[in-house]
Amino acid sequence: MSYKIDNNVLIFQYFILLLKMNNQLRNFVRKELSKKFDQKESKKIETKLFELCNILATEYDDNIGELYQKFAYDKVGELLTNPDKKSEIISDIDKQIIGWESCLFKTFRENESKDAKDQVIGIKVSKGEFRCKNVRCKSDECYYYPVQTRSCDEGATNYVVCSKCGGRYTFS
Ligand SMILES: [Zn+2]
Repeated sequence: MSYKIDNNVLIFQYFILLLKMNNQLRNFVRKELSKKFDQKESKKIETKLFELCNILATEYDDNIGELYQKFAYDKVGELLTNPDKKSEIISDIDKQIIGWESCLFKTFRENESKDAKDQVIGIKVSKGEFRCKNVRCKSDECYYYPVQTRSCDEGATNYVVCSKCGGRYTFS
């Protein structure tokens, strides 16, 4: 019985600690945001961030303190370094978009999917058949490979890659 009480006291103390920690973190985040935004807006953004972390913590049965530390700091960093993208970043928070899916990675994401579509069909190594176009290299250890471009009705593009300097050239 006494063990049970002690345990409850511990749990209670833990929650108080967590609450204090969260409030400290939250105040810190608001203070950071107020470097670029007015107090009212900083409070509004921070509340959105806290709510997002709360949703994620429930969804993934995770510790809100840790989630908040990670994602709130991420978003604060994004906002402070990209104030011109403020509305997009806030819209991401509203849509619960974090990490790689966020607006700041848009260009990277698009390029990656482009590369993924430029599927390598096969690699044929042929020494001596092609010479590297790099005048300082001119290696004959080049191989070529055809790449299927974005639209399938376009023919494959052939690439020559120099195995010495890594130069990449197209040829038809
Ligand atoms: Zn080369």
